[in-house]
Amino acid sequence: MFSVITDGQTLLFILALLYLTECLIWVKKQSVAFVSSSGRRWRIAQPIAWLGNANGAMLILNPLPLPGRVFLSHLLPVSISPSGVCAFNSQTLPWGSRPGTQTGEFVPFSEIKKTGTDGAYVVLNGQKFARCATPKQAKALAAVIESAGAAKASRRETILRAWIAKQFDAEDATGVWSEAERVVGPIRWMSLIFFVFLFVATPILVTMFGLERLIIAIAAAMVLSASVIALMFYRAHRKFYPAESSERFENVVKMVLCPPVSLRAADVLTRNVLAEYSPVVVASVLAGSGERQFVRGFVRDLQHPLKHEIADERAAETIEWMTAQQLKYGLAQVERVDRFAGFLEPLQGEGDSVSYCPRCEVQFVVAEGECPDCPGVGLVAFANVGEEVKSSATSG
Ligand SMILES: [Zn+2]
Repeated sequence: MFSVITDGQTLLFILALLYLTECLIWVKKQSVAFVSSSGRRWRIAQPIAWLGNANGAMLILNPLPLPGRVFLSHLLPVSISPSGVCAFNSQTLPWGSRPGTQTGEFVPFSEIKKTGTDGAYVVLNGQKFARCATPKQAKALAAVIESAGAAKASRRETILRAWIAKQFDAEDATGVWSEAERVVGPIRWMSLIFFVFLFVATPILVTMFGLERLIIAIAAAMVLSASVIALMFYRAHRKFYPAESSERFENVVKMVLCPPVSLRAADVLTRNVLAEYSPVVVASVLAGSGERQFVRGFVRDLQHPLKHEIADERAAETIEWMTAQQLKYGLAQVERVDRFAGFLEPLQGEGDSVSYCPRCEVQFVVAEGECPDCPGVGLVAFANVGEEVKSSATSG
């Protein structure tokens, strides 16, 4: 009897461990994760820095509430202007620096003969050009580079503006989000039933009747439940990610072979469903996110980008063009959201401070200089707010 209970406990422990590893997701340095416990109030979750490296870190999702309450948004790894493509995006997230993977290489449209992807890489003329957050992002970028490249030079600007405007289209994003909620809903409930079966009903039954008598029935029920979820996942995944057939196949196999994995199937579906929209759009779509500070930091970074070491003039022009477009569409989008009203109100000086950094908004007691945390961003005296904003907007 004693050894039977120990076997049951060991098994439960292994199942729980398998489940918990599915609650870990990798968040890249240029990605923002939005999470929620209830599905109503959303917040930006920071990954755990010591569980990561230079490219990203692990985020632990709350294992208890229903899955499928995580959305990521990824910044682009490139800048595209009507003249060409540069493997560099000057944008950084308010809490992070730029990833080391952006090379700054510039390729004019006239020299792009062939565009493709290799996993998460955009491939130009047979060479790996930029590393994206996901294969989906790489395919979308390759498609835009290809269509802009094939168009006449005069049409390129229109194509690129439309592409950037789409990343800031909150109505579109809201539509995708509510469709995802509708499709993922039943999967979420199925996961909850399976969760209760696995971690509540099974231990009780095993304690009452012993593992040996139940093991085959329990194993069969587990595989059956996981297969049902895997099938639902397969259909939903095909709808939202039609081109990602290998991700779809991998996950289905994992779920059937290792049933606890299927409990988090909804996370795999929601994770990247809004990923092509700018983080400011995702912050304004997800109700109750109240991420005013994030949105403010995001816009401040576009207005006062960190300096970069890219010497090629055409590359620098492309980076500036892209930053200016992002700022324009980002501001237009944020201004439409009521709860962000007045989010750019000027900073008030505290104590002895006479200046502040217009990017990170830390205050200083010295009148001039550069912010120690934001290379290339000059301090602004509290009296001269208007002046700096102008000079910084022209110097990029
Ligand atoms: Zn600063």
